[in-house]
Amino acid sequence: MKPEVEIYDTTLRDGSQGEGINFSVADKLRIAEKLDAFGVHYIEGGWPGSNPKDIEFFAQAKKKKFKNARLAAFGSTRKKGVPVEQDDQVRLLIEAGTPVVTIYGKTSMLHVKEVLRCTPEENLGMIGDTVRFLKDNGKFVIYDAEHCFDGYKLDREYAIATWQAAEKAGADFVVLCDTNGGCLPNEIAAITKVAVSKLNCRVGIHTHDDIGLGVANALAAIEVGANHVQGTINGYGERTGNCNLTSVIPCVSLKMKKTSVPARSLAKLTELSQFVDEIANMRHNPRLPWVGSAAFAHKGGTHVNAVQKLASSYEHIDPTLVGNERNVLISDLAGRSNIVMKAQELGFKIANDTPELKEILSTIKQREHDGYEYEAAEASMALLIRGILDHNPELLFTVDKYHVSMRRDSKQSVCEATVRVRVGKKIHDEVAEGDGPVNALDSALRSALAKSFPKLKKVLLIDYKVRILDSVAGTAAKTRVLIESSDGKNEWGTVGVSENIIEASLQALVDSMEYALLKR
Ligand SMILES: [Zn+2]
Repeated sequence: MKPEVEIYDTTLRDGSQGEGINFSVADKLRIAEKLDAFGVHYIEGGWPGSNPKDIEFFAQAKKKKFKNARLAAFGSTRKKGVPVEQDDQVRLLIEAGTPVVTIYGKTSMLHVKEVLRCTPEENLGMIGDTVRFLKDNGKFVIYDAEHCFDGYKLDREYAIATWQAAEKAGADFVVLCDTNGGCLPNEIAAITKVAVSKLNCRVGIHTHDDIGLGVANALAAIEVGANHVQGTINGYGERTGNCNLTSVIPCVSLKMKKTSVPARSLAKLTELSQFVDEIANMRHNPRLPWVGSAAFAHKGGTHVNAVQKLASSYEHIDPTLVGNERNVLISDLAGRSNIVMKAQELGFKIANDTPELKEILSTIKQREHDGYEYEAAEASMALLIRGILDHNPELLFTVDKYHVSMRRDSKQSVCEATVRVRVGKKIHDEVAEGDGPVNALDSALRSALAKSFPKLKKVLLIDYKVRILDSVAGTAAKTRVLIESSDGKNEWGTVGVSENIIEASLQALVDSMEYALLKR
């Protein structure tokens, strides 16, 4: 059954234009997999015509199987004066090999005249030609009407003509975009209503948060018949950001009571939000509606008291519905069900009454207190759970000692690492050089272990992120290291925390190798 509202995620494209957001190809693949597992309906992976990284992403993504989401490549209508079949940017869209292609075109007469500098008719031709060409190539086509609301306010007839050009050429969706993010909900609702009445194809909404109304505007459009909403996780995006899906999704499901993502996914929303922040190396905003750590925190004495008597007295919903938790109560029920869900996902046989659960939960809480984050380090979490469930299983290897040094010869600096590992009764020593201390340590550790475990030769460190954690008065600041590894087929994340960056890196590397050896 078709959901009443489809969720179109553009974190990897519009979201990546946000200040301070920079995703590697590996990051994008991991986020895409997470979004797919969560159950969004479309994932916009990037703009192949704008940068080689996005071309590489689509080449990698072709090899993956997505269960729930359809992958979309983003681009624009053909250039003016160029036949569509000769337009390089359009060709790259087809070569991306995605089932869905989303293109944007001009709605506003102002932009046609002043930015494109072409005739109004040529713009209609550019829209129609491109949509038709993509349809002829077997694509599901989503047409994003740029500056849709501002354009409509300027020249109503022309705006409608652009939407109809896309529809007539076979577009599956016309998506109304508040590109500058400055419209009010009543304007959005009125114009969306016109679009829904004038078009036979389905209508979607794409909003920005420039005046703090990104989510409100999206909901206003849905209210009058839009059944597709575009946005980003945590509201990433240019300027003040895009419409925030971590608010839109629960609003649609829990407040408007419309079908959207699978019901079971809602409880994973907070985790998804934290995961994307971890990958982006951003601090999770505690004041995010629905999913922030403060969203259900109660400080005021009377509130705490009332919430203990009756949760609904000061909470608009039960926080566990979106995977969040109440912050004052000592009950660890919420945390418990999250951990069970996570552990089951990782393949452990575990239920709410598993006796080891209490220890797992308290260990994770303690570690999080110490600065660990497991949202993007599922491999480290799997090892921690396994360690407790199997009652400290024998270690596959231990690092007996290591040494890292750096020297500078004339102009070049070189790092060198020495590692001694013990595998059963065997001892392996290895030395390696690298462009940085972690790179050298990784090479030495991997070569030493590969003597006993040749399969580790295939494992590669593909990304490395460092975050300095706030220091508590009087103590040294801690460093958290997140490492992403791949064996060519799968990617996984591991974490290490220490006051010493090399030590933190070693922890994450050791977890990565151990996980590679344990997984099938
Ligand atoms: Zn946008």
